[in-house]
Amino acid sequence: MNTMKPSLMDYTQKELMEMIKPSFRVKQIFNWMYHHYAENFDEMKNIPKSMKEELSEKFVVNPLSIVNKEESSDGTIKYLLAMQDGKTMEAVWLKMKDAEIDCEGETVHEARYTICVSTQVGCKVGCSFCLTAKGGFTRDLTAGEIVAQVVTLKRDNEHKRNRKINIVYMGMGEPLDNLNNVAQAIKIFKEDEGLCIGGKRQTVSTSGLSTKIDKLGEMDLGVHIAISLHAVDDELRTELIPMNKAHNINSIIEAVKRFPIDTRKRVMFEYLVIKDKNDDLGSAKKLVKLLHGIKAKVNLIFFNPYEGTEYKRPTRADMVAFQEYLINHGLLCTIRDSKGIDISAACGQLKEKVEGEI
Ligand code: SAH
Ligand code: SF4
Repeated sequence: MNTMKPSLMDYTQKELMEMIKPSFRVKQIFNWMYHHYAENFDEMKNIPKSMKEELSEKFVVNPLSIVNKEESSDGTIKYLLAMQDGKTMEAVWLKMKDAEIDCEGETVHEARYTICVSTQVGCKVGCSFCLTAKGGFTRDLTAGEIVAQVVTLKRDNEHKRNRKINIVYMGMGEPLDNLNNVAQAIKIFKEDEGLCIGGKRQTVSTSGLSTKIDKLGEMDLGVHIAISLHAVDDELRTELIPMNKAHNINSIIEAVKRFPIDTRKRVMFEYLVIKDKNDDLGSAKKLVKLLHGIKAKVNLIFFNPYEGTEYKRPTRADMVAFQEYLINHGLLCTIRDSKGIDISAACGQLKEKVEGEI
């Protein structure tokens, strides 16, 4: 079995300064990691050899390596990443907006990207529609393994540090079930001398651990939350997300109402639409009622089928009718483009495919 060394990406700059002296060297190391995306000590040219040798006995720089990558025609790139212990997980590079070039060839704005990160290998929640859940739970990711996903993808796409990027915690795993490491990663992303990705550019998606929603709120990190609601009554929600028994719809709605939200922002509610399960207008009507009084935005997601699932993808007509109902009743609502539909888009699907082939 491989030994796992801590990564320098596990720590904030201040924490590193407590461990490594002198402090200006930590500033240089931070610069190598987050401005130049250095993967190892060899790349850190201005750090003395003796110091690098000493540090490399205790730490690694970037704990991840790219195992596989699939690129979709819409610009989405799905990565399978390996950790020091050989375990793998996924991160996705999503193109949200194309670059706009005016008639004189000047760039009006550059293309915008979002990185979708994993927080665990597998997941304990066990949702019946989710491929990640099928493999059970292996382990939590460390803060450094979460941070390194963004560094690795920015490096691979030559995306400069000062270009804006959004992070969504929507890959494999339940972020609030690994709250300490996720919170640490959020702080490291926010560091001024690091990647400098503010809280408002980070969205934590949760299947609804209501007590942990409160905890995240108390940490006051300034992040957004997305709630994977998927159903409007507890019976169906428990079928889809078994832990709804302990954290029912009402407890989630109450926790959301307590969550500190930037006044200009909205709480995102993800609603995975499954044919003949929750795609009817009766459900849309209940959803409007449920979200009454919350500054909400609903994101409708097409269920993405995979081999062996009994659930079916809804028709576009039903999706549009559902969306229109919500909009006509005063809710903001988007239909999530099926990004990367040609490359096994939903979480867990690339890992399944690659490892199924080995
Ligand atoms: N555990 C967290 C974050 C990771 S799951 C959560 O559940 O919110 C990220 C998103 O992928 C969730 O909104 C989930 O509903 C969606 N997802 C899972 N399986 C899917 C599938 N087969 N088709 C489409 N979306 C899926
Ligand atoms: Fe876990 Fe989210 Fe998949 Fe549910 S949808 S099993 S919470 S990763």
